[in-house]
Amino acid sequence: MVVHKQSGVVVIKFGGTSVRYFLRDAVRFTQIFGEDCRVLVVVSAFARATNLLLSMAEERSIHYLEDFIKLHERWLDGLSIEEELRDLSRAMNRAYTFPCRAAYQDHVLSVGERVAAKIFASHLGNGVPVDAYHLLFTDGKFGDASVDLKRSAERMKIIRKIWESGKIPVVTGFLGNYLGYRTTLGRNGSDYTAGVLGHLLNADSIILMSDVEGVFTGDPKFIKDARVIPLLSYDRALLAAKLGMKRVHPKAIEASRRRIKILLGSTKDRRMGTTIGNVGMRVPIIVHRVHSPGYYRVSIIGHQERFREYKCIECKRDYQSYLVKDEELKDALRSMHEVVLHEIS
Ligand code: ASP
Ligand code: MG
Repeated sequence: MVVHKQSGVVVIKFGGTSVRYFLRDAVRFTQIFGEDCRVLVVVSAFARATNLLLSMAEERSIHYLEDFIKLHERWLDGLSIEEELRDLSRAMNRAYTFPCRAAYQDHVLSVGERVAAKIFASHLGNGVPVDAYHLLFTDGKFGDASVDLKRSAERMKIIRKIWESGKIPVVTGFLGNYLGYRTTLGRNGSDYTAGVLGHLLNADSIILMSDVEGVFTGDPKFIKDARVIPLLSYDRALLAAKLGMKRVHPKAIEASRRRIKILLGSTKDRRMGTTIGNVGMRVPIIVHRVHSPGYYRVSIIGHQERFREYKCIECKRDYQSYLVKDEELKDALRSMHEVVLHEIS
């Protein structure tokens, strides 16, 4: 009797703090899935790496480079990242050879994810680092590129080959390729990479792991009794992401085409918090983002009653947005959340 191994496909993305501080947990989490599905890992650069590289692209300083190396040292275990560092210094020496400043910057930034993928793959044991430069073709909008799905589809054979050899591909998030130049997909773009690869490989689910277990009714950094929302619909998650919810990049939700479930969890304790799919709970969500110097825009999704004490700048059926001064943000979030929480308790 031939027993077929289950061949469900799962894309697991780890954010910058997961790879930097909880690499062992991330590797273990991946291996658990690897036992009976085809797993593809997407990694962000180590937390702070992208910012360091941004500074390096601006201004050459040996200190930034030392900091960059230090960031990864703990997990190198004899693994060499010479090749990536050489490429970095080559790019910095020849910035003038790039078609524009943004193209040069994207090349420098790419080193963060490339090093992270190499480290992750080596810790997995059976991991193969894959530079998304070879997988994802994008438009020419350096710094905020979008993936050309049609052209990239054909490259998925690289991934299938790795699976056939019994290994796990570890793909660099955030990166792409435009006419042979490196592009990046916008800050926090690794979620988007996971969404696109999930779509192109017909994944059963996309799992986005970070240091926050899911989407909360309000930012848990400010609101201590914010509650995690176990089930969230694509529409509501997308609206929240566009209005300032940072846990998932809106482009990742769009890339899933409302077909692939997106699961959110925290790497450290392997706790799964939110599933984004066709089924969602009608729980209000409070999000915020910078509006203009000195002001935040606080939005409440799925709550009918108006807050008269704040200036409403947009009132729609699905959400309301208020203008809140910097120094009033904390209090505003807390008092609004109290009202909202009362409604769901
Ligand atoms: N490393 C990139 C950034 O910090 C992409 C990501 O983390 O998703 O923006
Ligand atoms: Mg990051």
